[in-house]
Amino acid sequence: MERACAVCGSDRFVPFLEKDGYRIVRCAACSFLFVHPTPDPATLRALYTDPAYFRSEGPLGYADYAALRSFWEAQARERLSVIECYVDRGTLLDVGCAIGIFLKVAQERGWEVSGIEIAPEAAHEAERLTGCRVVSSPELLLREGRTFDVITLWEYLEHVPDPRAELQRFYRLLRPGGLLALSTPNAGHRLVQRAPALWKEFKPPEHLNFFTAETLLRLLVACGFQVLRIRAIAPDYRAPEWLEDGIARARQHLGDRHDRRTPFWFLYSIARRVVRWTVIVHHKLLLSPLAYAGGLEVYAHKARESE
Ligand SMILES: [Zn+2]
Repeated sequence: MERACAVCGSDRFVPFLEKDGYRIVRCAACSFLFVHPTPDPATLRALYTDPAYFRSEGPLGYADYAALRSFWEAQARERLSVIECYVDRGTLLDVGCAIGIFLKVAQERGWEVSGIEIAPEAAHEAERLTGCRVVSSPELLLREGRTFDVITLWEYLEHVPDPRAELQRFYRLLRPGGLLALSTPNAGHRLVQRAPALWKEFKPPEHLNFFTAETLLRLLVACGFQVLRIRAIAPDYRAPEWLEDGIARARQHLGDRHDRRTPFWFLYSIARRVVRWTVIVHHKLLLSPLAYAGGLEVYAHKARESE
């Protein structure tokens, strides 16, 4: 499918990278990077409706989404505490909600939640976890004339064929004064220009759009949003697989470090804290510039009529 640049509307592109049979181009006018031509809708639908997407053995999808639950929960709490700085608790729509971990955490904090998820098995799991309604596309909600206080698009915009159309749709679903929160990989990372073949986020057809802070802000403003805050997300450091496996096995045998029945729980706890704080300090002091950030997190709002 041919398309114009989602950010600026130009139709002049220069080749940037070939990957797995797909072409990634750079817009000659605004430098936005995206897969062109867009894979056909049937290919994309097949990718996400395959239950293997959340338990993938290949390079696409998630190796085991559910196994990272405690990581997703901590991330959700952190993100909600930012959201709650801007808006009072009310209705929240999580788009691409997967198995509903973010929705569940939000619900526990007093939000009235709904979800959108294209993968039927994950949507079902999210409904079971939260008891809330999870639909497969925003069209139904638009037809019902629904609006929300908060819409979240975590790791979503990079997957969709037309990010501008999506943002326009969510603009309509947001009440005036409501908040949009999103995250996406950071194509402003220095690897993208220096060694693009090494940047792990270039993975078509799963990822189709690659935003820098500049192109993302430009698109949000073009869709009517006022950007309140942009944050760099530090890259996630993963230990090699054998070490992760060893840790998981040790945990099974020894118990959880939060559980005081675990022998020497305080030693694990201290060790984990030392590692965690070293990584955090390292990120804050050395890696904070956007050139090193793994992802971008943006909080934007839809102005009230009078603003
Ligand atoms: Zn452009």
